[in-house]
Amino acid sequence: MPEGDNIFRAARTLNRALAGNSVTGFRSNYALLTRFNDDTPLTGRTVERVEARGKWLLMHFSGDAILVTHMLMSGSWHIYRHGERWQLPAAMMRMVVETKDFVAVGFNVPVAEMHTAQSLARDPRIPGLASDVLGGGFDANAAVKSLLSYPDAELGEVLLRQTVLAGVGNVFKSEICFTAGLNPFRKVGTLTREQAAQVVSTAQKLLESNVLEDSGDRIVTYRGRRRRTTHRSDPGESLWVYGRSGEPCRRCGEAIRRRLQGADARGTYWCPRCQPMPGARDVDG
Ligand SMILES: [Zn+2]
Repeated sequence: MPEGDNIFRAARTLNRALAGNSVTGFRSNYALLTRFNDDTPLTGRTVERVEARGKWLLMHFSGDAILVTHMLMSGSWHIYRHGERWQLPAAMMRMVVETKDFVAVGFNVPVAEMHTAQSLARDPRIPGLASDVLGGGFDANAAVKSLLSYPDAELGEVLLRQTVLAGVGNVFKSEICFTAGLNPFRKVGTLTREQAAQVVSTAQKLLESNVLEDSGDRIVTYRGRRRRTTHRSDPGESLWVYGRSGEPCRRCGEAIRRRLQGADARGTYWCPRCQPMPGARDVDG
């Protein structure tokens, strides 16, 4: 599943290409979108802006129409010049938004709905501005409070709740816990308020550093002193713990561990020495 920083970058690219321009064409093979467009055409409206809200991508059109999409595992948005060859088969196209200069194509986007500002605000699945880590309206204090409202849940599970911290996915989950020095399996109720605040500020810092203009498509949380020129595409080179099961911790050398966590059984990675359970004795001395 794309994490929030990926959706953020996609939204930023779409926004730069489309915002302020009139829609010159729209088509979709989703009946609901097609019907909406037949009744109240998107053609002729202006694309006001494109924004990410956690893992949702919102395309705002003039006249209070918002195209809301979620990529889940499979979906992606591409932007092309007219006449440019698509990088994915046309059979995977789910919707196309055209302006004078660009063609935005949603491929395999499994969730697509039209909203008004009001229906969007009422939809509990779509995070509000306050919980969107990368949004301008992010409210860190509210996020700390929201995090601490799940005292009986494990930290790693709560970090994936999009109503708490929208934009954090499974990779960031493990990286945030390591960076904050907290065991992902400890109950949220064992955290002090300061530790919860540290979790939130770490999430913000890591996600923000991944949407800088020069950041690539990969998530990078570890920038080693030894810049290796080989294996540069290895995702393990850029992360502290995620995907590094059995490899030595970059801080202490202990073997990184992996365990499935939560009802969804998502893989969680951690260093047992740098992230001990509270009260646990260091059995390795
Ligand atoms: Zn360690």
